Amino acid sequence: MITLTEIIDLYRNRGQSQYGGEAVSQLEHALQCATLAEEAGKSSSLIAASLLHDLGHLVHHLGEEPALQGIDDRHEDRAVPVLETLFPAAVTTPIRLHVAAKRYLCAVEDSYWASLSHASKRSLELQGGVFTPEAAKAFIQQSYAEDAVELRRWDDLAKVAELKTPDLDHFLPILLDACGNEVLP
Ligand code: FE
Repeated sequence: MITLTEIIDLYRNRGQSQYGGEAVSQLEHALQCATLAEEAGKSSSLIAASLLHDLGHLVHHLGEEPALQGIDDRHEDRAVPVLETLFPAAVTTPIRLHVAAKRYLCAVEDSYWASLSHASKRSLELQGGVFTPEAAKAFIQQSYAEDAVELRRWDDLAKVAELKTPDLDHFLPILLDACGNEVLP
């Protein structure tokens, strides 16, 4: 079972890797995403989910950019078993659904696909492509699907080179609150 300290260390030690063909590192992407959630006044659960949503990219050994080799790393599923011993469904479910949320938004919003980065459009195909209208309807009826859609929008925006954000330490109390602890395990 992983501890919160070990999760933070993963970001400190492996977070410098590039974020899937974008102009930011994994750590910068995570911090930008969490900052957007915090600025939107969201719960500690959704801020924590935003910070940790791509943890799955840090726990596999498929190289930095498996999508370039045509491999879907299934990072949204890899993160959940790691996190669910520490965090409730309010954190892990939006993470598990954040890739499906892209497939959903492509299906229901005309302008969304065009707004995606080149790397996101490429990975969309590996991830199963745009949802059919039926699949989109089924998706949004799931618990925490609305949270996953919000997370997805911050995820798409959290790719700004050189943007200043609060650091990991700033988010520690929020992570502790989200997992119901008062001290760092
Ligand atoms: Fe992301």
